[in-house]
Amino acid sequence: MEKTEQFEFQSEVKQLLDILVYSLYKHKEIFLRELISNAVDALNKVQFEVLTNPNIEDKDLDLKINISFVKSQNKVVIEDTGIGMTKEELIENIGTIAHSGTIDFLKKLSETKKKDQVDLIGKFGVGFYSSFMVAKEIHIYTKSFKKKSKGYLWKSKGDSNYSIEDMVKKHRGTRIELFLKKEEKEFLEKLTIKDIIAKHSKFVPFPVYIDEEKIESVAAIWTQPKSSLKQKDYDDFYKFFENSQEEPETHLHLSSDAPVQFNAILFVPKTSFEMAGIFKAEPGVDLYSRKVLIKKGSSDIMPDYLRFIKGVIDSEDIPLNISRESIQKNIIIDKIKKHILKKIFDHFVKMKQKDMDRYLGVWKNYNRNFKEGIATDFNNRDKIAQLLLFHSSKKGKEEFTDLKAYIERMNKDQNEIYYVTGLDIESLDKNPALEAFRKKDIEVLYLGDPLDEIVIDHLRAFDGKAFKLVESADIKLDEEKETTKDKEYLKDVGNYIGYLKVIFGDKIADVKISQRLVDSPCILVHPSDGPSVQMEKVMKMVNKEYSFSKRVFEINPKNELIKEMVRIHKKKPDSPELKTLSIQLLDNMMLREGVIDHIDTAVPRIQDIMFRAAKSI
Ligand code: ADP
Repeated sequence: MEKTEQFEFQSEVKQLLDILVYSLYKHKEIFLRELISNAVDALNKVQFEVLTNPNIEDKDLDLKINISFVKSQNKVVIEDTGIGMTKEELIENIGTIAHSGTIDFLKKLSETKKKDQVDLIGKFGVGFYSSFMVAKEIHIYTKSFKKKSKGYLWKSKGDSNYSIEDMVKKHRGTRIELFLKKEEKEFLEKLTIKDIIAKHSKFVPFPVYIDEEKIESVAAIWTQPKSSLKQKDYDDFYKFFENSQEEPETHLHLSSDAPVQFNAILFVPKTSFEMAGIFKAEPGVDLYSRKVLIKKGSSDIMPDYLRFIKGVIDSEDIPLNISRESIQKNIIIDKIKKHILKKIFDHFVKMKQKDMDRYLGVWKNYNRNFKEGIATDFNNRDKIAQLLLFHSSKKGKEEFTDLKAYIERMNKDQNEIYYVTGLDIESLDKNPALEAFRKKDIEVLYLGDPLDEIVIDHLRAFDGKAFKLVESADIKLDEEKETTKDKEYLKDVGNYIGYLKVIFGDKIADVKISQRLVDSPCILVHPSDGPSVQMEKVMKMVNKEYSFSKRVFEINPKNELIKEMVRIHKKKPDSPELKTLSIQLLDNMMLREGVIDHIDTAVPRIQDIMFRAAKSI
């Protein structure tokens, strides 16, 4: 008895189909890459089952992909002997988009202008649905590998509906029939299909036949000796592996026989998906045992913060029948992990030494991953710290320094690594707290990324040298005597400081003469080691109730403005103008740091000061 059921696609699928059917995307051939890649996944999965589970349909069936044509019906057929689908899986996998990444991508796609959609489609691939760019109708015949499964026929014209009916299918696997649109007949040509496969799918690890003819492919390139492979082989493999049009930034081919056997090819992509603000990248390294895929996108070897690394790790020492859950606790995996991580960090360190330009590309894309690593991977913290780059008071905003080079440039009597935090390099560069450091020729690192301070907090020290926030540093200019020669003036300064303490009240912890300023009139600093203002801003964002820690207001008696204030205070201590100007001195510092919470009184005050200045001209 035949029974046909009608279904409606999930709304996201409808939306995707709508975009695809009307898309201007030129490289429609990618549909084949997507279908072959699905077939490979299905074959990989069944291969694993065959080796570990005796109880499956068609246990001895050859694992392969067949492509054929029925020209009279404008039909291309792609068939695999993979894992197949049950009815529930058909509904779940083909009728809905489970992947949150794809849904996010879709959202982005639908917000993008039609002509820019084209780029996105090519970049991310849109799976099975891309076939509707070339087909006006698609039939899927499928039968699951699970014992006693029935066959099903799925049909859709790419509009909002599909149907499923029972169907006798002899063998396990999936057969996809594309009824091509009139204008897409080129895909009925064997040569065209062969070319597309050579271009996108030459590393398919299972035999591919087109009209019975076996197509040449390169299997498991990671097991081949490095000497037999050229740069282009790696690039091509990467493009196949990642469905990418772009070469990788760099690759790493590793082989080891002891203490554990493994082969690995790892890639660093040239562009980061995370930078595009669309995805959190998924783990990208597949785990194989003797060329059989055990786990795709395994997070067991590659820690989460290295999720941008793509590739393959294959070890004979990993038992095939290892349960996916116990991979994590496996001692062999642990050894491979240690070995591989060391190689990866060494690779980046070497790259940084030998080819800074290229390393800067990596840094630009993945510096946040490295920083995440320092915060989360205690064992490799010091190794990752070698990869960090900073702008600094000596390198400016164009160049970077790493920590090793900073330490090499340190003054003889310097024991700490100084840093200053802020939102952009320009304002960091003008921070008055740096004046004393400049004068003494001490280099200061610029921490312009909010993550930097968290990183420093975790590291605490590098190569035995502790990190120190400049504002908390005990740095004194040697020439203080010069300004303090005038005992009378110093007494007046002391009186003015007493006055400031009164008018500032409990807004600040203390008022002092500064030993760190050269030119600027004043500065706000920490009374002792504490989080920087930047860090406090983050805390405030997380918790509205958070109140900024009280800081010390330091004044520079050598500064002309301060001299004037001291003079007025001596002459007319109860002058209302003196009070206005003094309060504004503090507000200026708070404005500079972006922590002012009473802008509505500060602005009229500034305007009042301007008015008086204007009138006096
Ligand atoms: P993706 O491959 O990115 O998951 P697709 O839309 O291409 O997205 O496929 C959706 C799902 O349908 C796959 O994840 C898989 O579960 C199932 N599928 C597709 N093609 C096949 C096939 N040839 N054999 C078995 N399952 C398949």
